[in-house]
Amino acid sequence: MSTPPSHAAKDAATVGVLGNGQLGRMLALAGLPLGLRFRFFDPAPDAPACAAGACVLAPFDDLAAADRFARGLTVCTYEFENVPAALARHIERAVPVRPGPLALDVSQDRLAEKSLFRTLNIPTPAFLPIDSLDDLRAGIASVGLPGVLKTRRGGYDGKGQQVLRKPEDLQPAFASLTAGLAQDAGGARSAGLILEAFVPFTRELSVIAVRSTKGQVAFYPLTLNTHQSGILHTSFAPLSPLSPEMESTAHGYARAIMEHLDYVGVMALELFDHNGRLLANETAPRVHNSGHWTIDGCVTSQFENHLRAIMGWPLGSTEALGACAMINIVGQSPPTEALASLAGARLHLYDKAPRPGRKLGHINFVERSEADLHARVNAALDLLARSRSGGA
Ligand code: AMP
Repeated sequence: MSTPPSHAAKDAATVGVLGNGQLGRMLALAGLPLGLRFRFFDPAPDAPACAAGACVLAPFDDLAAADRFARGLTVCTYEFENVPAALARHIERAVPVRPGPLALDVSQDRLAEKSLFRTLNIPTPAFLPIDSLDDLRAGIASVGLPGVLKTRRGGYDGKGQQVLRKPEDLQPAFASLTAGLAQDAGGARSAGLILEAFVPFTRELSVIAVRSTKGQVAFYPLTLNTHQSGILHTSFAPLSPLSPEMESTAHGYARAIMEHLDYVGVMALELFDHNGRLLANETAPRVHNSGHWTIDGCVTSQFENHLRAIMGWPLGSTEALGACAMINIVGQSPPTEALASLAGARLHLYDKAPRPGRKLGHINFVERSEADLHARVNAALDLLARSRSGGA
């Protein structure tokens, strides 16, 4: 871990971040202009955030390393929701952890999360805990087919879940998802499965919200998201046509969750729009991929507002500056120069080695009109598709 250079301000605040992936990197990129320093804690060497701050490289259960990491921090946060809540609780004895570890408890377990939605009267797909094949048969008798069987813990980007379409799907899906649990864990992870009713949604939306230490709350415009192979592909915001009622409903749900958890920082709430009715799918207690458009598209980005919130500073404006879009770059290195030559393209690369399914960067667009936005997004999508097929 490096020491600050001698010219540096003695009282500069240092933000500690659990996790050193691209979200940590983008937090630092937003925080360095505010005079903040960054220190990351993660087992992974050569990770994207290490270019933007000091890195303590150690397993998440190495509490001596956690103590070294925590020493002298102003505040600690996380960029990854699967950091052990026990680690966050350990660090909390030395330095404030925001959002608090309770947010990790909830978001790490789909059953706890969906139960919280129910407690707060937030509509969510029908769900049941599943611990045996008999539970699953009874569950399907109750929610009907199709259903979605998921691991309670550890799933992401569509992993750890299967859609059940016919009675013969039950046994193999149960076997493969529980085999995954046994392999992964031998402990906390074998917390079982959850069955959800399948929602034939019209579209997927998300809302990024932020709450300060003083209870001030702000919301970004509702975002429309598309996925490919379970991974976020594009985001568009503000929603078009605007739907003020849907927007205020989504904001109300996010506010209820944050107030219940006494939450501090940015939180994402993913929603299904089913014929105009919003159903909560899941939360993320951190900055979120569907909020990356805010870097170029809003007065204050989600990253800056997360830092303002956890530092106890006033929140910045979440107003959008135009018609915005984000395209994720996944799996294969992009044709950087060709993308950079596209009109209006704002390129954000994470300095990660290509690998199938890996998020390597994203492109933002902010335009005056929807027509301009769609023309430019389509040009970028064409270019990416041509480069994947070897033509760019
Ligand atoms: P998740 O890991 O829960 O965010 O799920 C990943 C993706 O699977 C979502 O973005 C949806 O496209 C789809 N999905 C998850 N749960 C359901 C559900 N209950 N009904 C329909 N699609 C779902």
